[in-house]
Parts: sequence; C-alpha cells; structure tokens
Amino acid sequence: MSGRQLPFIGSEGTWTGGDVTPATMCVLAPNPSPWTLDGTNTWIVGPVGSTSCVVIDPGPADQRHLDAIIESAQARGQRINTIALTHGHIDHSEGAAALAEQTGAEVLAVAQRFRSGSKGLSEADVIDLDGWPLRVVVTPGHSSDSVCFVNEIDSVLLTGDTVLGRGTTLVAYPDGSLREYLDSLDGLRRVVEEYSLEVLLPGHGPVLDRPVDVLDAYIRHRQVRLSQVRDAMAAGVQDPEAIVDLVYAGIAPEVRPAAIQTVLAQVDYLLSERGGPDAQRQE
Ligand SMILES: [Zn+2]
Repeated sequence: MSGRQLPFIGSEGTWTGGDVTPATMCVLAPNPSPWTLDGTNTWIVGPVGSTSCVVIDPGPADQRHLDAIIESAQARGQRINTIALTHGHIDHSEGAAALAEQTGAEVLAVAQRFRSGSKGLSEADVIDLDGWPLRVVVTPGHSSDSVCFVNEIDSVLLTGDTVLGRGTTLVAYPDGSLREYLDSLDGLRRVVEEYSLEVLLPGHGPVLDRPVDVLDAYIRHRQVRLSQVRDAMAAGVQDPEAIVDLVYAGIAPEVRPAAIQTVLAQVDYLLSERGGPDAQRQE
C-alpha cells in the first residue's frame, strides 16, 4: 500500500467508512453500539472498471442501509452479483436476504441457512472479481462459521469479527472456540505473509495497517488473558463471573456478557489442555 493514503488507520479517530482502496469501499451501517463499535462495516469489493462487485456483510436489515449499499455500488458503475458473509452473527447477516431479493445477487455463506443456493464458502474457494480472485480463508474461533477474504487486487484482508479495528474480539462460546481462534490467528499470519497483504479491513471499526503486528498483538493478548485465567483457576476461583471480576476488572457493564463468553471459552481451553496430551507435563 506504499504511497497510498488510507483514511483513519489505527485505533484513534472517527471511522465513517468510505473509499479505502481503489477496489474496496466501506458503507458503514447505522447500528453503532458497545458490541458493534461504530456500526457494521459493509464492504463493496470490485476492481476499478468492472461492472460487477461483491458485497461482504450486508449488515442489519435496515432499508436505509441497503439503499446506501445499492447506491454506492451504482455510483461505482457496478452491479452487485454476489453477497458473501464473514459469519452469521445478526449484525453482519440480517440484511442479506433482502439485499439479495432487491439485487438478484447470490448469497454465499458457510452456514447453509444464509445461502440463496447450494454454493457455500470453503477453504481456498475463489470468488471471481472480473478475473481477480477473492480468496476464502476459513477462520473459525470467533464463531464456528467465520471466514476471512483475501483481496489480492489491493493486498487487503477482510477479517469480519476475527480481527476488529479497535480493541479485541470475543470468542462467542460455546459456538466459538479459543483453540480454533488461536489456530486461525496463526493461519492468518501465514496468509498475510504469503500474499504480502498490507491492510486489514475489519467487520467493525477502522482499517488497520501492519497486519503481522496486529495479529501478533492479538495472539499475545490471548496468551496474557489465558495465563490470567489459569492463575485465577489455580487460586481456586472457578466461577466465570468471579473470573471476569478478577481478569476484566472495571469492564463496562454493556460488554460484560462478551467477557463472560470469552472467559468460558478460556476455561474450556484450559480444562481441555489439562485433560489433553500435555496433562502430565502440566501437573
Ligand atoms: Zn460476530
């Protein structure tokens, strides 16, 4: 991305969406909340000059937002022919069926219930962007059905909720899994290096440069949290609410349920670690 100016990179500042790279723009959904940050990022991806595009995560079923997506694609001279979901959480998927109905686009998703046809999303699948590949990377963990997309035109990775533009994400236990999440972060690190990707486009919050540093920080953060939960459990604290009080002291009440889910995921991880092949070495 050298030489290109990206809007609002990093954790500070207001994120309003808009054109991010020549082939990628964000239409910010009007659903801000403690859970969705500034709102859901709906991404329109299509090469300059192409007459078609892919919409990733239509967001809420809010007609104002769906109109804004359709108008943004039209302003680019592009018809929406595919809708793809990074995962099925309602703030990403709810508008998919209505947008498909209004545009005739096909909906692709890991979970069958969101698809408009038989085609889903699997590892190494490629969505054709007028000759350019939009590659699917399967990244379970935040949810069981999470995927990311590599857009080689602009050297960007669309991360859904696997990586957010601010803070860190939750592991939506029991659907999500910390073991899978950690494996997915390692996998994304390899993908970023393999394709020399330069920018992360998250499902919420501003775009991030230095993808490897961001992923390393995410991995470190999870290891720190895991050791804090491990210490709490070793000290006899077993109740998830009490672990949240210790490890996430001062957390805002609105996002406490997210911390509880993530603590449950960590407890599950640590218990399986104890019972797993490393059990003897641990004791
Ligand atoms: Zn989510």
